[in-house]
Formats: sequence, structure tokens, C-alpha cells
Amino acid sequence: MFFRIFCISFLLFQAMSLFGQERVMRVNSHYQAEIKTLTQESKVMRGMSLIEEYVDATRDLHIKLTEMPAPPFQEGRRAQLFMQVMQQYDLDSVWMDGVGNVLGLRKGTVGAKTVCLDAHLDTVFPEGTDVRVRMHGDTLYAPGIGDDTRGLAMLIAVLRVLNDADIHTSDNVLFVASVGEEGLGDLRGVKHIFSEGPQIDSWISIDGGGRASVVTQGLGSYRYRIIFKGSGGHSWGAFGLANPHHALGEAIHLFVQKANRFTTSGDRTSYNIGVISGGTSVNSIPFESSMEIDIRSVNPLRLDSLGGLLEESVYEALEIQNKMRRIGAPLTVEFVQIGNRPSGELPRALPLIQRALATTAYMGKRPVIRRGSTNANIPIAMGIPAVTIGRGGIGGNAHALNEWWLDRDAYKATQGAFLLLLAQSGISG
Ligand SMILES: [Zn+2]
Repeated sequence: MFFRIFCISFLLFQAMSLFGQERVMRVNSHYQAEIKTLTQESKVMRGMSLIEEYVDATRDLHIKLTEMPAPPFQEGRRAQLFMQVMQQYDLDSVWMDGVGNVLGLRKGTVGAKTVCLDAHLDTVFPEGTDVRVRMHGDTLYAPGIGDDTRGLAMLIAVLRVLNDADIHTSDNVLFVASVGEEGLGDLRGVKHIFSEGPQIDSWISIDGGGRASVVTQGLGSYRYRIIFKGSGGHSWGAFGLANPHHALGEAIHLFVQKANRFTTSGDRTSYNIGVISGGTSVNSIPFESSMEIDIRSVNPLRLDSLGGLLEESVYEALEIQNKMRRIGAPLTVEFVQIGNRPSGELPRALPLIQRALATTAYMGKRPVIRRGSTNANIPIAMGIPAVTIGRGGIGGNAHALNEWWLDRDAYKATQGAFLLLLAQSGISG
């Protein structure tokens, strides 16, 4: 209980601290009317009530999927399970693509366009993490329980309801369970789909928390791994060798001075050295010293500029430290970009965005436009209509071992996703 209070107050604090970057949106009356008309169709009404009926089944699947591990780059087992679940429903085809995404195509009656509904398979938790779901009261605890396994369960609930309510869409609907959304996965699943997959005309991701959230702006990031290398040796006996840690420290110092100046004005841009490693003992000159850096910006040009400052600092540091060297071979450096998530922003007037706002309002929330770093970054940067909507319920501690999720009216998030998908793909007959 104490823990729960802490979590909820933390969430509120987070929401408040983000408030400055959010915009509560007024909803266009044309789209409000469109959603209202849609909800008066008898099959849609039936679908809406089936979503409520299927709450227990959706929770059971949610738990089953959570307990199937999906570490970064090892989503295969969960992907197989998800594919088996998908195959129980009437889809025109279900397949796994070259990078491990699971796709299920439900052809439309016209089929001129394709709308995707996506949730991601991967979690941030390494192999061996205990992913068993624990229940305290009605709260579910497990690593990955919210992010994004709840999204996967919602995706199946929508698919099931389309079938059971016998709803046919005009456009094709492509259900996607994607790999590589988190961290160093670097959106590789969605990147693959947009480079080698079928033609996609609009994209809806289910990821992130609250039902009010509509992400239409991609927060871009670049990530780097930098490794200084030398021969290494005894701290006394080999003194005078160039020291990789000293070079790393020099590079950090140079970069942070420049990056601090660069980020104090202009579009919001951040930098973070998140991981430093290397060295074997206090009396050994290390043979390797490395760091991982994340930089983010709402503006793609500023990502390039800050990336350039980092590169400049690293090579300057290499030169300085190699000049100090008294014996041995010079240090070398590997400068590797390990992540590239593009930024971008879509016009509010796009029908998909308007529909997302209208369904959110119809489901009783004041919609809030947000910027995020999700699968939708890729289509957003390509100018393809895309949004990320929330999973519903209440949750916290995402990416931590004590992640939790509570089903408070979460079926409403599924209903919202269902309505948005139907509004975008068109309902026929
Ligand atoms: Zn996620």
C-alpha cells in the first residue's frame, strides 16, 4: 500500500513535470460527428460490448505473454507465442518477417490502403529475469507488464472483436507485433517494415501510458559507443603509455563543455553519458575504455550538430592524450553510432490525428498531444500518418523490475483503439 502511494504520487509528479511540453487539444466537430456515427452502427456497438465481455480473457492473455520472456534481440519465443495466438483468428495471412516481426493481414473489402495496428514484443529486461506475474489485490507486478505487453493483449482483443462482431473494413488492416522498439533495438522492427515490408498508408502504435495521450511528434535520438584502445600495462612498470581512461575523461570534459553551451539556447536538445566501462584493476593501465551516449532533440538538424561536437571532442581528446604519451604505441578510438531514431512532426489536420483526438474525447478523456520516442517515429519522419495511443489502466516503474499495472477501466483504451482503427480503415457493410 505504502509502495502504491509512492508510485502514484511519483506518476503525478511526472505528469506535472511534463505538462509544459503537452498541449490539451480541442476536437474538431466534423471528426466528433464521424466517431459518433460510427458508434451507432450495430456491429460497432456489438464490438464495443464484446471488448468489455472479453476483459478476463484479455487479462489472461496479458499474463501469459508477460511470462514469455522477450529480452532485447531475443523476442523469438514471445513472437512464436504471439503468432500462435494470432492464428486462432480469421486472418488472410499471418507471417514472421526477416527481422522477427509478426504480421497478420486482414484484407479490406476495397483493400486500396493499409492501416497498421502495432504493439512491440520486446522488453528491456535481459535473459534470466524473473518475469512471473505477481498479483497484490488487483495490481499486477512483473517486468514488462505494462510496456508493452498490455499493448500486445489489446491488439489481440481488437482482432478478436473484429472477427466476433463480423466487422469488415474497407481498407486492409495489418496487425503488427514488432521487435526492437526498446533501447539498442533502435526501432529495427518498424524500420524493416517501412523499408522492405508492404505498402502502409497509416500507422497506429499502442505504447505509453494514459488514455489521454496522443503522440504525433517523434522525439529523435542518436546514440553512440566510443571505445578508446591501447596496449595496457603495469601502472608503475609501463608508466608513460597512453591511457584509454585518461582519453575518455578528456573527451567527456571537452564534449560536456561544448554540449552545455550548445544546449542552453535553441530547440530543446539533451545529452547523457549513460554507461562508462573498462579497466581491470587499480594498478593496471587499462587496454580499453568505453562510454555510451544518448543525445535527443526535437530538431533533426540539432541532432546532427551535437553529434558533430561529440565526434570533434573525441578526436581532440585522442590527439591530446597521444601527445602526452612517453612510451608505446598511440591510442586508437572507435566511434560507432549505435542508435538513430529520427524526429519529426505531423500536421494536426491529418484525419488520423483528428480521429485519434476525437476517439479519445469520445472515450471520456481530454486528448493531449505529446512528443515521444516510439515506433511511430519512423512513419512520422517519413510523413506517413502515424500516432501512438496509450494502453490504459494505471501503471508505473516501466523499465524497472517492480513494474506494475492496474486494470482501471483499461477496456476503454481497447475500445478507443478499436474505434480509431475502424474510423481510419472505414467500415463496410
Ligand atoms: Zn514501449
